Amino acid sequence: MHPAKLVYGLADTLTSMGVSIYEGSRVGSIDGKTLTLDNGRVSAAKTFVCTEGYSGQLLGSRTLIPINSSMIVSKPLSEEAWQQIGWSGLQCLSDSAHTFIYSQRTADGRIAIGGRGRPYRYGSGTGGTGSTAQSTVDLISAKLRSFFPGIPFEVDHAWSGVLGVTRDWNGGVNWDHASGTGSSTGYAGHGVTAAYVGGRTLVELAFEQKTERTTLPWVGYRARKWEPEPIRWLGVHSMYRLFGIADQWEERRDSTKTSLLAKFGSRLAGLHE
Ligand SMILES: Cc1cc2nc3c(=O)[nH]c(=O)nc-3n(C[C@H](O)[C@H](O)[C@H](O)COP(=O)(O)OP(=O)(O)OC[C@H]3O[C@@H](n4cnc5c(N)ncnc54)[C@H](O)[C@@H]3O)c2cc1C
Repeated sequence: MHPAKLVYGLADTLTSMGVSIYEGSRVGSIDGKTLTLDNGRVSAAKTFVCTEGYSGQLLGSRTLIPINSSMIVSKPLSEEAWQQIGWSGLQCLSDSAHTFIYSQRTADGRIAIGGRGRPYRYGSGTGGTGSTAQSTVDLISAKLRSFFPGIPFEVDHAWSGVLGVTRDWNGGVNWDHASGTGSSTGYAGHGVTAAYVGGRTLVELAFEQKTERTTLPWVGYRARKWEPEPIRWLGVHSMYRLFGIADQWEERRDSTKTSLLAKFGSRLAGLHE
């Protein structure tokens, strides 16, 4: 998905419906119907916390952690290069590794490819302005080159952000009538569709509407909390390290079975709870 087109498209749609958007209004804390911002307070009858990977500050740092995700896009490829690869349509491609990448041929003839890079910053850091580390760009472009040796790729753009990940990787939509606050978070990279369904469900709960969405299993669901630091940092980094070693082990043996190391890593990550 083209992130800038999504943001501007959504903003245009909402403003044309009469919604006001206040940019540069970071909420520091929420106490019932009062929201404290950097330069003042706002009262709201209903507050929806939909800050996904950035929710730690508002919902508690052990509720959900920001996991980094990055993408690069190549410069447009020549027709000969596409023929040489044999990639004629808009098929998606993934390597199915434990430290996976995912990729797509874009409508304007580039390859967009995403992966993890540095997965987690100590203390649930969100990485500031969203710039992408050169080491991450190099890692993802090396993967791309290894898939298609001999094809000359040039990286045109890179972008990064954080995904909200709960302890068991399950999201939840929660609404509290008494305080007039609710949240929809923890999509763990399931992305824009999950955000849409979650946001819509939250509004329906807040306005006491019963729909097919308001009875879904993630309504009212809260995953157990993440461990405090430094255990959290050690756990996440150990998990990715194990996944990396498991990938090398499986690849070297041309194995069709998931290695024990990866199974242990998944358990550590809470992926099979
Ligand atoms: C590199 C990358 C590539 C991705 N690619 C895809 C893709 O191709 N397809 C897909 O479906 N998904 C993709 N995703 C996932 C997708 O971006 C997210 O799941 C989706 O944006 C979540 O939507 P959201 O509205 O819940 O949260 P976000 O889009 O993260 O929006 C949260 C908003 O809250 C604001 N905010 C945060 N803290 C505060 C605060 N304290 N006060 C006020 N505002 C605050 C932020 O500024 C932001 O605008 C990608 C993610 C990344 C990082």
